[in-house]
Amino acid sequence: MTARAGYDLHTHSAISDGTTSPSDIASEAARVGLEGFALTDHDTVDGWDEARAAASELGIDFVPGIEVTTRFGGGSRHVLGYGIDAVTGELFDALTRVRESRLSRARHMVKLISADYRITWDEVSGATPAVTIGRPHIADALVSAGYFVDRSTAFAEILHPGSQYYVPTYAIATDEAIRLIRMAGGVAVLAHPAANRQRAAVASESIRTFAASGLWGIELDHPENREEWLPPLRALATELDLEVTGSSDYHGGGKPNRLGERRTPASLVARLRELVKTPR
Ligand code: AMP
Ligand code: FE
Ligand code: FE
Ligand code: ZN
Repeated sequence: MTARAGYDLHTHSAISDGTTSPSDIASEAARVGLEGFALTDHDTVDGWDEARAAASELGIDFVPGIEVTTRFGGGSRHVLGYGIDAVTGELFDALTRVRESRLSRARHMVKLISADYRITWDEVSGATPAVTIGRPHIADALVSAGYFVDRSTAFAEILHPGSQYYVPTYAIATDEAIRLIRMAGGVAVLAHPAANRQRAAVASESIRTFAASGLWGIELDHPENREEWLPPLRALATELDLEVTGSSDYHGGGKPNRLGERRTPASLVARLRELVKTPR
């Protein structure tokens, strides 16, 4: 038997827009030979207890995390927070507001979509245990009703930001989210900065601003990062002393990303743990 290697520091359960439970992710992590994994559901930490218990049962390491919905200069930016004490404080209040806005925004989008597609709000909200609702849940209802074959097709056809059915949602300013994560005792990592769904990689000036706000790392190893956009970001990470993480952004059956397909070395996770309030 080979030893388990590395950590997957970016995963989603059905508590947000993944399709499997937190304990399913722990089992899958053991199966694919990970040393450990972080659960980073969108805007909630409600899956931590289940993931932590399942990981402990299986003898693998759990890193508590979150992916915060933020915006900067008009663009949507996701920030990963690790090791936060999310039970109180300004971050908790900001996340509550983000989740509430997501809910009213999703209802609004479903109302617009239902003029042309036979789906209802009950079908969208009733089919999931999620505490953070997003477009993937609307996609699932459209797939169930037979309009599209999978989430990705529903996004490409009618859920993208340019769609007549798209409604924006409240997000925290990225630099503010980084400050709130640090105040809550965590470290912040900029998620998928060269994601191929964007028109371009996150601008260097933006990353400099985030670094000045206390950004700790940058997720350069991610299956959706576009390879040709990475060299300048690598140079910037070196210049600004940002740690480089690797993760899959697993969403169960909701995306093709496979758990553990990108990983972060154990030595970096050990350094991360020394910096945070909730290391496990
Ligand atoms: P929202 O949170 O409502 O803005 O929706 C964004 C989420 O949708 C992301 O976190 C992804 O998990 C998911 N997503 C975005 N694009 C796609 C796609 N093409 N296929 C499947 N899921 C997607
Ligand atoms: Fe997601
Ligand atoms: Fe993301
Ligand atoms: Zn994610």
